[in-house]
Amino acid sequence: ESVVNRIAAGEVIQRPASALKELLENSLDAGATVVSVIVKDGGLKLIQITDNGHGIRYEDLPILCERHTTSKITAFEDLQKVSTLGFRGEALASMTFVAHLTVTTMTEGQTHGYRASYKDGVMEGDPRPCAAVKGTQIMVENLFYNVTARRKSFKNPSDEYARVVDVISKYSIQNPKVGFSCKKFGDARADVQTPGNTSSLEAIRAVYGPGTSRELIEIKTSKNDSSDFFEMNGYISSANYSAKRTTMILFINDRLVDCAPLKRAIEVVYAAVLPKASKPYIYMSIRLPPEHVDVNVHPTKKEVSFLNQESLIEAIQTAVEQELLQSNK
Ligand code: ADP
Ligand code: MG
Repeated sequence: ESVVNRIAAGEVIQRPASALKELLENSLDAGATVVSVIVKDGGLKLIQITDNGHGIRYEDLPILCERHTTSKITAFEDLQKVSTLGFRGEALASMTFVAHLTVTTMTEGQTHGYRASYKDGVMEGDPRPCAAVKGTQIMVENLFYNVTARRKSFKNPSDEYARVVDVISKYSIQNPKVGFSCKKFGDARADVQTPGNTSSLEAIRAVYGPGTSRELIEIKTSKNDSSDFFEMNGYISSANYSAKRTTMILFINDRLVDCAPLKRAIEVVYAAVLPKASKPYIYMSIRLPPEHVDVNVHPTKKEVSFLNQESLIEAIQTAVEQELLQSNK
């Protein structure tokens, strides 16, 4: 059974950056306004995330890392709605099958916190009282310690670190009210640092440098009729921005995803309107009814598809074209 669990876990948690993505989403779900990350060896030795969210109640600690334990679903209809975004209650459980997990947490109004360790879905011993502040710290150590082939496939920790930084950078743009930081263990300086309480544009400035945000155009479109609902907000690069490749940061219902057809469709518009700046920078946040979103094949697939995809892509193309023509006058 443990081999089966380990294989399943390795599909949910593919590399340090995918573990971090789940941890970040949990911190955001917990209402955190400050999220700090420390990483050792690209996350293979250590991923430590500290948030000031609502914490985890003492009585929830024993089952925290059992599969399908989630505090986020209460009714069956909820399950149907959110399960389209994937593996509810599987992230922490999965991590315990391929790493050592330690959770330190304190809820509002407590005088001390608790620390608990987990392995193979089970809490080891009892939670130990400890000094803490409100919020949660999770340490994921020695990722894939028991999956030799997987561990060996990560030749370059600095590659993995770059992916971790990339994920945090993107979430910090989608969540500008939250202050994020990320650094390597032992470093004084952070590699990502956003102020919190700010706008997406300011977060882009903090993460990608002031130059990028100067070249950006705000973009918005929406549809709300009997057959279809969506909202899109974001920023796209103007004629002055040039790069060797397209940067596409796409969130659907606050989850970081890929959508190759949408990316291609936008590149087509750039090639037509701004042939000299045809590798754009794109940040888009799309809201759809959750039941319209399908993370196909496997819940961890980042590639997403959704209902009425063609008409949504067309609407976005039109909006992009209008803004580019407008700004290029
Ligand atoms: P899910 O997010 O799908 O519910 P996870 O395995 O990611 O499943 O997390 C399991 C549960 O652990 C969550 O439902 C939540 O109750 C709790 N949890 C995890 N991380 C945090 C956190 N940083 N702050 C508060 N609660 C957390
Ligand atoms: Mg989660």
